[in-house]
Amino acid sequence: MQEKLEEVKAQAQAELAQASDEVSLQNLKAKFLGRKGVITEILKGMKDVAKEDRPKMGVMINEVKTFVEELFDQKANQIKEEKKRRSIAEEKIDATLPSRSLSVGARHPVSQVMEEIINIFEKMGFEVAEGPEIETDYYNFEALNIPKNHPARDMQDTFYISDDVVLRTHTSPVQIRVMEKEEPPIKIIAPGRVYRCDSDVSHTPMFHQIEGLLIDKDITFGDLKGVLTEFLRLIFGEGIGVRFRPSFFPFTEPSAEVDIECVICEGQGCRVCKESGWLEILGCGMVDPEVFKSVNYDPEIYSGFAFGMGIERITMLKFGINDIRLFFENDVRFLRQFV
Ligand SMILES: [Zn+2]
Repeated sequence: MQEKLEEVKAQAQAELAQASDEVSLQNLKAKFLGRKGVITEILKGMKDVAKEDRPKMGVMINEVKTFVEELFDQKANQIKEEKKRRSIAEEKIDATLPSRSLSVGARHPVSQVMEEIINIFEKMGFEVAEGPEIETDYYNFEALNIPKNHPARDMQDTFYISDDVVLRTHTSPVQIRVMEKEEPPIKIIAPGRVYRCDSDVSHTPMFHQIEGLLIDKDITFGDLKGVLTEFLRLIFGEGIGVRFRPSFFPFTEPSAEVDIECVICEGQGCRVCKESGWLEILGCGMVDPEVFKSVNYDPEIYSGFAFGMGIERITMLKFGINDIRLFFENDVRFLRQFV
């Protein structure tokens, strides 16, 4: 028996010397000290030992057990120290290496102009309202006095998700959603992304709009002209010429297109303004009584106006950009010019 115990001691020492990480250490521990380990098996063999020899044997086995346990503790410490030393060596910083340069980003020109427009209207007392970009046919068309088969639907090349669900073609559905929830007076602007199936130098399938809506008692076309003329002066400069031309939109009556004096040729006539001296900048009008009916406002009591404009178009005119697609190509050489 004594020989066997000496053998176990030697075996444990030899095998531990080979162990180099925590996993192999755990495995060895199970092999020697575990419930089915070598030493436990020897202890189980005690029942075959003569009764008078048992105390002596017990002391011997315990000595070996303690010895092996100490071996394991030592080895565990050694592995831990080694691991710590390695990680410190790996973390060493080489202060002589050149640093990585950080490139500074900037706001996209469309975002800059959007923010500028929002600021102007907020100063006039308008609040920002938002709504979903995936809309139902009802909010995008029907509630805005554009029933199915109405010719005005041809004016907008729509992305249909299903027969009844579309990517919104304008931010006007937000106006309906606000009117459904609130009673006048209403004074909101609705900025956001809109989608139309169109792509050339002046159209992209996704672009940004801002629409405005003001409803109260005794609102007239004069209020509309005043607010929009002031806005255009603030965004394009004090001396800018502004004109209103009669037009048609299904959700406003009367409707108008608003032009500004060409910012390129100052009204002399050039390629950009097609020699007319004027640039179309936004659409507007007095809210059609039919729209009021769909949100249960009494058109005999309330009146109001709505307007809408494309942010990209205004940005192009402000910065003299001639191709709308440049905004979305994400070429930093282009974007860097507007920092
Ligand atoms: Zn011009």
